[in-house]
Amino acid sequence: MESGSAQRRQAKCDDVQERASRHGFSPRGRLASRCNIRRLRDILTHSIRCLPTGKMTKGTTSFGKRHTKTHTLCRRCGRRSFHKQDKSCASCGFPRAKTRSYQWGKKAIRRHTTGTGRMRHMKDVPRRAKNGFRTGVAKKATPASA
Ligand SMILES: [Zn+2]
Repeated sequence: MESGSAQRRQAKCDDVQERASRHGFSPRGRLASRCNIRRLRDILTHSIRCLPTGKMTKGTTSFGKRHTKTHTLCRRCGRRSFHKQDKSCASCGFPRAKTRSYQWGKKAIRRHTTGTGRMRHMKDVPRRAKNGFRTGVAKKATPASA
């Protein structure tokens, strides 16, 4: 019983050592120690998760390490494009006076141009133009309907 488990542990240890040496790991000191085995196992699981070159991937594994924000909400356009250190918006160019726009970005212009918002002033202009932009004139009395 006792010798059986010891044998199994030794076999496992040999297996780990063999796999570790295949991955180019040469252990120093006593390999049989529990700590060493754990280190080897970590290396093996790491080598499985990573590319054959041994570097971290640029995908799923490294996304977990991200925790800082470079951009924050922009006061002018509302997008999360205001660079906190540069103090400028990557989307609208704030605090520049003119809104950032380029002819190579026709769709971007189309998304931000007149008529995409509330048109708080412009939507009333055609109606006022129809009546000649009159101001200060009393409303014409409409004949009472019968
Ligand atoms: Zn902006």
